[in-house]
Amino acid sequence: MKKILFAAAEGAPFYKTGGLGDVMYALPKALAKANLDVRVVLPYYANLMPEKYQGELKDLTSFKVKVGYKDVYAGIKTLTLGNVKYYLIDNLDYFGRDALYGYDDDGERFGFFQMAIIEMLQKVDFIPDILHVNDWHTAFIPVLLKDKYAWISDLNKIQTVLTIHNMKFQGIYDPIILDSIFGIGRQFFNDSGFKYYDAVNFMKGGIEFADKVTTVSPSYAQEIQTPAFGEGLDGVLRANSYKLAGFLNGIDTDIYDPRTDSNIAYNYDRQSIKNKALNKTALQEQIHLPKRNDPLFIVISRLTRQKGMDILLATMDDFLVRHNVQVVLLGTGDADLETDFKWMQDRFPSQMSTNIRFDERFAQQMYAAADFILIPSAFEPSGLSQMMGMRYGTVPIVHETGGLKDSVTPFNEFDDSGLGFGFVNFSSVTLGETLDYAYQTYREKPKLFQNMVQRDMAADFSWTKSAKLYLGMYQELFGE
Ligand code: ADP
Repeated sequence: MKKILFAAAEGAPFYKTGGLGDVMYALPKALAKANLDVRVVLPYYANLMPEKYQGELKDLTSFKVKVGYKDVYAGIKTLTLGNVKYYLIDNLDYFGRDALYGYDDDGERFGFFQMAIIEMLQKVDFIPDILHVNDWHTAFIPVLLKDKYAWISDLNKIQTVLTIHNMKFQGIYDPIILDSIFGIGRQFFNDSGFKYYDAVNFMKGGIEFADKVTTVSPSYAQEIQTPAFGEGLDGVLRANSYKLAGFLNGIDTDIYDPRTDSNIAYNYDRQSIKNKALNKTALQEQIHLPKRNDPLFIVISRLTRQKGMDILLATMDDFLVRHNVQVVLLGTGDADLETDFKWMQDRFPSQMSTNIRFDERFAQQMYAAADFILIPSAFEPSGLSQMMGMRYGTVPIVHETGGLKDSVTPFNEFDDSGLGFGFVNFSSVTLGETLDYAYQTYREKPKLFQNMVQRDMAADFSWTKSAKLYLGMYQELFGE
């Protein structure tokens, strides 16, 4: 059986801050059904690990990793969920904190993590055929395998795949880390290696050194080869386009299923869609919004400019004044955006509910209750919330970019087709016009609207499709 090891900085159901975490749960699970030995390695964030898994963890081994001149403890814990075995790398100094990321020493933390992953392989007796790394936190592994660890013949045959979930975050550090963390020389600190201007760029290293590079939608794979989306690496991606592909993410259709979801007040499916309205009332009651049968728009998002929250704010006032609608927002992010959305709630208390927290249960209740989900992202590698929305019969309104474009075919009222509302030109004005159009369709063409809800719920966003694409790529690497 071929062996695949996924490496990432976060993974559901243990810890997630966004799409990366979702994918790290669902993709290995889907691939494990295909006669592969699939395992996942993550950091052990001691304070964030849910109680229910804490008790299942077993200590496997421990060793020391050289971080510069320091000998640093790396413990390996393990547990198994379904067909997937997890390795969790324990070091309290690095990972026993209150959050996953955002620390000044992230370069050192994930430098350590990547070395510990490679050094773990022989110790746990699992040398994968493919080491599949994800985003900048693990993107340096393909470099390390060809540099620092190139002398270990056991590891030479490992092939690497880098999946880019977000091009914006690259892991850019002063070259001093080559000595002070990795203890490697400068043989690849050049333009065709990991050098980016005068700095070390983990993501660039991964793109240059991985055997395959993928990203999470076909459109994003094209977009990142252009200056507007490439975040400075578009040239590098164009040069490596021969090994670049885009596979759209899926969602876990067992977890996100309105028929069985125990987080929601009333279960429903396509036939019993009228129960969806009961979830709306339940949500209104819970957050003290008037129980009106007006269209309900939701936002479940990191509150950042990437997510288009600034253009949403710019048009929101107008939208709330002109229409009988309610908007429920759930998210955390940039302080100024959080403040502005809270202020919006103060101004429109019967129409707007702003919830600044991360709360998956509440998110699911919102998906079940709403008519529309708003996703005006400036760029969106894949996006999952539009798929979750559709699964719950909540119609997406999206900026047609990246995975949003690949998953939400635009509504066409003339031939009664499409899955949601889209706009091309990224501006608050076009967003506002699209919101008006969605509102009018809901009010004036309820039959067309309901047909779209039915199509959304019937659409297939399971992982089965994309897992096949990944499998095809693995087989290519195996030479099968
Ligand atoms: P990204 O990874 O860029 O944040 P995605 O759309 O790919 O965006 O994934 C976002 C995931 O995180 C979805 O599952 C969404 O439901 C969830 N999510 C985002 N914000 C919150 C929140 N405040 N509370 C609960 N879930 C959230």
